[in-house]
Amino acid sequence: MLKWIGVGILILAAIGAGLFFFVIPARVDARMNTVIAHEPFEISAAARALHATIGTADLHSDALLWMRDPLKRHARGHTDLPRLKDGGAALQVFTAVTKTPSGLNYEGNDADTDDLTALMIAQRWPLATWGSLFARADYQAGRLADLERRADGAFVYVKTAPQLRSAIADGALAGIYGIEGAHPLEGELGNIDRLYRSGMRVMGLQHFFDNALGGSLHGRRGAGLTRFGRDAVGKAVAKGIIIDVAHSSEAVVRDVLAMSDWPLIVSHTGLKGHCDSPRNISDQLMKEIADAGGLIGVGFWEGAICDPTPDGIAEAIVYAVNLLGAEHVALGSDFDGTVTTPFDASELAALTQALMDAGLDDETIRAVMGANAVRFFLENLPAE
Ligand SMILES: [Zn+2]
Repeated sequence: MLKWIGVGILILAAIGAGLFFFVIPARVDARMNTVIAHEPFEISAAARALHATIGTADLHSDALLWMRDPLKRHARGHTDLPRLKDGGAALQVFTAVTKTPSGLNYEGNDADTDDLTALMIAQRWPLATWGSLFARADYQAGRLADLERRADGAFVYVKTAPQLRSAIADGALAGIYGIEGAHPLEGELGNIDRLYRSGMRVMGLQHFFDNALGGSLHGRRGAGLTRFGRDAVGKAVAKGIIIDVAHSSEAVVRDVLAMSDWPLIVSHTGLKGHCDSPRNISDQLMKEIADAGGLIGVGFWEGAICDPTPDGIAEAIVYAVNLLGAEHVALGSDFDGTVTTPFDASELAALTQALMDAGLDDETIRAVMGANAVRFFLENLPAE
């Protein structure tokens, strides 16, 4: 009898482990990265023809967080190589999320909890990632390198401007790696060198909580750059790493603008004057970023643009073009960033249609959908 109870407990434990390691991570992914149910979008022949001439570019995807093989097509989440290709993608910035506090919100988060540790254990990430934010960032850079090895030329992990130029010429998807919040530096400037060697070319300063570099837009203090933050920005810029101030407090944005004329990106955002959300910084600061040569990626989800439909995204883009100038506007989907979007990466032609419907000319649509971001990275990635 006792023996059978023991066997029963073992079977239950095995089922539990199976659920924890194999079923739950995919369920969480499917539940957190959703697409609003819709009929197939109607796309005119003219929009299709225009879209076919555009190599699209996007400044922000969190796909590396999820154990979905990016080489294969999936029914969940927003991106993978086949779907990006269907959507016409030429360039995608992939960002590493490394810590997310419980009860995530746009108003105020503390830094003392972290929901990601459980996800990383459930997804069977290496032991080192359980306790080290640096290891989490470095592991995600490794996933891009791994994708490049397996993609047979269809994907290039880009670290320099010439690599970007030739990837686009070859019709491969170019991937650039960045971190979403610089807490993986773990207070060590030397970790900028280590992540640079792993391929980091975009450094987001904050995510949802205040960190050692300065205040988050959704933290507690709204503080500017710390001494360490200043040193880290200075060092990153000197190495040719692009600074991303998405999620940074307005004080941090002002401090970064004041210390450098290096062009910044706001990789995924909305425009405050268009959608008055606590996720968005003031139009005035957006203008200062654009005037300094910066690039703003317009997001696809409700918290950034208020109306997450193709027409709603187009409206936000038109507002940004009028406020900042067409050459400073790009896409910043936040695909796979635990958001709900109107379409996944394969259906991006719906946005070209919506931009035509909104009255933008072909040249402006090409610029916003891809050419601006490609030009920006060709100008600002290291030359070798
Ligand atoms: Zn984000």
